Parts: sequence; structure tokens; C-alpha cells
Amino acid sequence: MIIPLRYYGDPVLRQKALPIEVVTDEVRRLAFDMVETMDAKRGVGLAANQIGKLLRIFVIRPEIAAEDGEFMLGEPEFYINPSLILPSEELEVCSEGCLSIPKLHLDIERPKEIHIRAMNLEGQWFEADVGGFKARELMHENDHLNGVLFVDRYKGSRLEVDDFLRQCKKKYSS
Ligand SMILES: [Zn+2]
Repeated sequence: MIIPLRYYGDPVLRQKALPIEVVTDEVRRLAFDMVETMDAKRGVGLAANQIGKLLRIFVIRPEIAAEDGEFMLGEPEFYINPSLILPSEELEVCSEGCLSIPKLHLDIERPKEIHIRAMNLEGQWFEADVGGFKARELMHENDHLNGVLFVDRYKGSRLEVDDFLRQCKKKYSS
């Protein structure tokens, strides 16, 4: 089921999501709805706050390099109660966007690599060292669970960005 998205200006995007104590069928249903919603909007990641649920879960589709050098999207991945540690000292700047702030793309600096620990849909813990675009996806989505948006991490001139955000807030609050 596709669930309506929450957009910039909605207070739920600024709230901290709560841990999921048990991974139930209800949580799994939410996870699959999140994938359906993300795919319908052609996103590559979605956090529960973005559909108005204050639970610590996000989904992504990783980019996979195809043989011809192009990139394609992989199978959805689920992260429940994630924690990110050991960010690399090396940083990387890359363009980011967000389904909750349509049409805005900004260069954002983030660590190049990160270590993640999270639960899967079976409620089992797993961990991984992640780099490249996927590391960025994990950090972007994990920020959502803490009420942080990618625009908060933008280090360039605020003037145009703030103007865009004001328009966005106006558009989606009416
Ligand atoms: Zn986002």
C-alpha cells in the first residue's frame, strides 16, 4: 500500500523516531509499504518519519554497478533500530535529494565510509562496513530517524536554499 508522504514543514520530520521493540508482522507490513511508497516516488531510500511513523526503520535500494558500467537499483534492504559508528575521517561531497523536499538537490559532505549495526525483518542483528553511495544513503536515512534533514548539513550559501524551503513549506502545508 502506498502511504502519503510527509513533506518539509511537517513536524514529524523533525521528531526523533522510537526504537522498535519486537519485529512483528505489523512492522514487516510497514516495511513493505515503505518499499512500495519509495518505488512509486522513484526514491532510493525512505525513513518511517517520511510517512508519519515515528519508528526506527528505513529502507533503501542500493545502487549496483552493472557490467556495462551503468548503475541499477538492487533489491530493497531493511534497517531496523540502526546505529552508525566509526565514520571514516575521509569525507566526500556528493549531490543529494530527498523525497520530502522535492526538486532540491544539494552537494552534501559526509564521511566516505561507515559501520552500521541494525536488525533485519526477521529481528536478527547484522552489521556491515559500507562505503560509496550506499554509505551516503544509510547516513541520509539514519538522519531522518533523528529528525535531521540533508539541508541541515548543507554548508553552502543559505539564501537560495532557505527561500526554496519556505516555498516548499508553503506549498505542502496548504
Ligand atoms: Zn530524505
